Amino acid sequence: MAALPVVAVVGRPNVGKSTLFNRILGSRTAIVEDRARTTRDRLYGDAEWNGRRFVVVDTGGLEIEPGDTIEARVQEQARVAIAEADAILFVVDAAAGLTPADEEAANLLRRAKAPVLVAVNKADNEKRELEGAEFYALGWDETYPISAAHGRGTGDLLDALVWALPPESAEEIARKDREREADAWARDMAAGRIAPIETGTLDADGDEDDEEAVDDASALASRRWDAAIAAESETSPAAIAFVGRPNVGKSSLLNALLGEDRAIVSETPGTTRDATDTRLAWGRSEIVLIDTAGIRRRGKVASGPAAERYSTLRALKAIGRADVAVLVIDAVDGLTAQDAHVAGYIVEEGRGLVVAVNKWDLGRTFDQYVEWIRNEVPFLDFAPVVSISAKTGQRVGRVLELAIDIWGERRRRVPTAELNRLVVAAGQRQTPPLVKGRRPKIFYATQAAVAPPTFVFFANDAGSVHFSYRRYLENRLRDAFGFLGTPIRLIFRDRSAIKLPRRRTAKGGRARKAVAGKGTGARNTRARRTA
Ligand code: GDP
Ligand code: MG
Repeated sequence: MAALPVVAVVGRPNVGKSTLFNRILGSRTAIVEDRARTTRDRLYGDAEWNGRRFVVVDTGGLEIEPGDTIEARVQEQARVAIAEADAILFVVDAAAGLTPADEEAANLLRRAKAPVLVAVNKADNEKRELEGAEFYALGWDETYPISAAHGRGTGDLLDALVWALPPESAEEIARKDREREADAWARDMAAGRIAPIETGTLDADGDEDDEEAVDDASALASRRWDAAIAAESETSPAAIAFVGRPNVGKSSLLNALLGEDRAIVSETPGTTRDATDTRLAWGRSEIVLIDTAGIRRRGKVASGPAAERYSTLRALKAIGRADVAVLVIDAVDGLTAQDAHVAGYIVEEGRGLVVAVNKWDLGRTFDQYVEWIRNEVPFLDFAPVVSISAKTGQRVGRVLELAIDIWGERRRRVPTAELNRLVVAAGQRQTPPLVKGRRPKIFYATQAAVAPPTFVFFANDAGSVHFSYRRYLENRLRDAFGFLGTPIRLIFRDRSAIKLPRRRTAKGGRARKAVAGKGTGARNTRARRTA
């Protein structure tokens, strides 16, 4: 697995970094916004432009010590970006003009190996755009006048950014192919081209034939992805990343794990700059610990805001390459806002998660502690929480065992017939709430992908399935099928009204009637992030 490229947004306070960041992320809403009050502002997010995915980081949001001078803050951002980013958006302010802090940041950024794009923000009109020409003095061949607030020029900036990114990894290309196939298949299913079930809803007592038929259709479409996943699982063992703030005990934990007679199979350089992965035998499994170079050094770990920002950027890359992330938190500090941000990112990326609470010697009982976490960050309620002591080695093995279990859960597939029995039963227990006077009806569902498990629900009015009902269905799925420690995605699609000629499925040769329904489904073609 390869991590997505990281794009860092740097610049003085108030130049419009956060505004640009939000514009790049567009209307994509993050789960963290809805569900965690500890993570009001997003710092990282997945973005996509011209089919290229990348992670954007608002380095301004990482500021921890507000007492620092502006110069010191922007220099620190620049250093972090130089160390870990694959591309840098250097934002300056056309209204304020060139300032000494801009110049100092530029002096640092000129040394970056990663490409730097100078975004001259607040160029809201032509006059400002002309004024912004003074930023050529910073020495870059090109500057990009933009208005982050109004969207002026941001398309050109993103075009240039995507060009400047390192080439797309083979894994990313393969992932896209799978996604495209899943998309085409879901469209076919929605349009009635491949689902050989009769019009109307699936009855609670839907007969055997129908169930088999639905299974045929999904099996037909999903066999290839399953094969791809299975092949990948065989060749690449569970990849586990340890993340967390500096000094929470990641290296002690790692050393405790590697210390007890573990056969280290190999250490290979990872794809990230100076990242090293450690492959080791664990019971009958083989696992890969991601980017151990970043956490190996015990003892003197630089702390403070700079170290923290550095470690978060590094963590993003590690998470991007992992199947399961172990978020190590400190029992004393608890789950900080910074931890919640990283956790939110893990969920967005669809990685498995174990929360390991280290330095376990508190007055509070563990149950109270877990309850506190559940209340504070309810979007993590799928993840197991374990208390460990990296120092004494207490329960450290449990962390890896859980991670390996989660690796399996992430790859589990639910048979379509079973899934639809659950959907029917769930609908009988609780009908979807009215949204703007309309009550959506869910006809059937199927699991479109694994890692993370992704379910597509076909409904007559997919857009009006309320968030609370999505949560309800997610909970029913978890009650019935487990999926411990892995995020699951729920995608809702309109069952299409398009009448199509009958088509035979390759396997069963059963023709089906075109399904009559409402909507076109077009609205939801990019609904990947619904869960
Ligand atoms: P940050 O501190 O760099 O993250 O800056 P913010 O994104 O918080 O923006 C600072 C201020 O500049 C806010 O009041 C924004 O509304 C404003 N701003 C951001 N982008 C633009 C823009 O393109 N044009 C104008 N006129 N104002 C902007
Ligand atoms: Mg900001």
